[in-house]
Amino acid sequence: MIKQAFGGTYQIMRGMGVTLKYLFKKPVTNQFPDEPVVVYPRFRGRHVLKRHENGLEKCIGCSLCAAACPTQCIRVEAAENTDENRRSPGERYAAVYEINMLRCIFCGYCEEACPTGAIVLEHDFALAEYDRWDAIYTQDKLLEPHQPKYIQIRDDEVFVPQDTWRVNK
Ligand code: SF4
Ligand code: SF4
Repeated sequence: MIKQAFGGTYQIMRGMGVTLKYLFKKPVTNQFPDEPVVVYPRFRGRHVLKRHENGLEKCIGCSLCAAACPTQCIRVEAAENTDENRRSPGERYAAVYEINMLRCIFCGYCEEACPTGAIVLEHDFALAEYDRWDAIYTQDKLLEPHQPKYIQIRDDEVFVPQDTWRVNK
């Protein structure tokens, strides 16, 4: 009984010690979205479809991103460019480009597979929607430049040498 009482007191003191340790430290709470959230440059967030400087779309409708996507959340339908309707520098362009963000796991395989650098995972992470249909990002939405004010990108990067990676045995 006495042993249990001492044990309980010790555990309470231990818990209070942790509280005291953080009492005078700067709070880590971030007042999102009023204060910017700092992310690393390699952070993979919301996708954006890029354009060339002359305004033409970088996407050529090749569907390599859709083929590489492990969750099959990308839908691409290609069409032929014509002199009257030229959307990309190549022979074809994406007439339909959609991503179902509810299925995306932000692996970045689509970005790696893209031969033209058209699809890029940028840094926005606030992707909640009231209606699940709004989570299907259409081409128009993806082509809009998108850099919300609540994101701040760090200008440094932390690389961990591979030989220091911890191996769980
Ligand atoms: S990040 Fe991964 S899961 Fe998401 S669309 Fe790209 S390939 Fe698919
Ligand atoms: S985003 Fe890239 S990989 Fe996907 S269809 Fe367009 S050009 Fe091809």
